[in-house]
This record gives sequence, C-alpha cells and structure tokens, in this order.
Amino acid sequence: MKTITEQKPFEEIEQILNGAEKIYLIGCGTCATMCHTGGKTEVLEMRDKLTEMGKEVSGWMVIPTACDELTREVISEVSEAVGQADCILALTCAFGVQTITRYTDKMVYPALNTLFIGIEEVPAHFSELCTQCGNCLLGRTAGICPLTACPKGLVNGPCGGYQHGMCEVDPNRECAWVQIYNRLEKAGQLEKLSALQPLKDYSKMAHPRRIEVKIT
Ligand code: SF4
Ligand code: SF4
Repeated sequence: MKTITEQKPFEEIEQILNGAEKIYLIGCGTCATMCHTGGKTEVLEMRDKLTEMGKEVSGWMVIPTACDELTREVISEVSEAVGQADCILALTCAFGVQTITRYTDKMVYPALNTLFIGIEEVPAHFSELCTQCGNCLLGRTAGICPLTACPKGLVNGPCGGYQHGMCEVDPNRECAWVQIYNRLEKAGQLEKLSALQPLKDYSKMAHPRRIEVKIT
C-alpha cells in the first residue's frame, strides 16, 4: 500500500519556482521511488532540467521515507546546503512536503501531485483502494470498498445501472457491488446485504482531521 503520485507538468513547477534561483531537491526513497516520480533517477532528471533553464541546484538527496519523523535528522544533516538555497523542491507526496516543512524555515514546494493511497496492480499501473472515510465498511462488504471501488460511492447495494456485471460509469471495471455480492455468496454470508447501512457519517471526513490514539 503506497501513496500514489504523479509529476506535475514542468510548466507548473516553473511557475511555482518563479523567483527562486537556488534550489535544493529532495526525493523520497519509498512511495515516490516506487511510482517513478521522486526516486534518484527523477531527482537527477529534475536537477538537469532546472540547470538547463538557468537555475542552480545547491544540492539534492533522496530521503529514505520523506513522511517519516527521521526526516528531521536528515534535514539537519544537510542544513548548510539547504541554507544556501532559496527554496526546496520536494519530489515527494504531500505528506513528505508537509513533513519537510516542519523541519525547515525554507519554503518547500511540491513537484508532485498526490493522487491517492493504492497498490500497484501490474508494473506502473496503480489502483485506489481506500478514501480513508473514517468508518470502515469492509467487514460487511467482503473486503471490497464500496466508497472507493464504486464510482458513486454507494453503500447499500448497486445503482442498477450495471451491464453484464460491469459498471455503468466505467464499463472496463466490474461493478463493485457485483464483486461484493459474489464474494459474500461464495462465503455463505449474503445475509449481510439485508442489513441497511445508515447514512454515511461524513463528519469523520471533515478537515482537518485529528484523533487521539490511546497507547496502553
Ligand atoms: S470503507 Fe473504504 S474508504 Fe472507508 S476506511 Fe474502509 S476501505 Fe477505506
Ligand atoms: S454499476 Fe456498480 S460500481 Fe458502477 S456506479 Fe453502479 S453500483 Fe457503483
């Protein structure tokens, strides 16, 4: 399970960096490396592009996991090179950008768009699995997320528009509720479908979300 990212169009990165002459580049050795958006290769490509357009790259590194608390130590180790830069360009997900921001006064700009949390189905093809709704329904939906796998996010059965088991919104995908039905049927648990799911409590998706976890 990874945070899936894509690289922003270079024109947008150019606009974001407008006015900055010296830039420090940071990639991430975990999700962004796996997505081929912010590993060593992409960081070096970005360095070359920025140099071609007349910017100076004061340094670069790939943090093992940019969203991890160890980022604080990593940033302090390169504080001199970072200090020489006008800003940091982060080839990390938004969590990485915000983690780096906590540990430096420099402006940290994103070079990537953070898309979703998902898995790599086949090489270079990623699928969203969870929209982090705060009230997981997988226990009654046979491990398939109706909020994410169904484009309409229906939680009480299908919309009725599916054709031959395929979704009416995306005919290339099997209807999420057909999948749920088939798995429940196979497990002998179709009775789970008769329990009406209350209206989704979207307050748990209100931002910013905070939670206290009791540690025993
Ligand atoms: S119901 Fe779906 S979106 Fe909500 S937590 Fe479970 S998997 Fe994630
Ligand atoms: S066909 Fe199935 S997956 Fe597609 S929108 Fe309707 S219920 Fe959701």
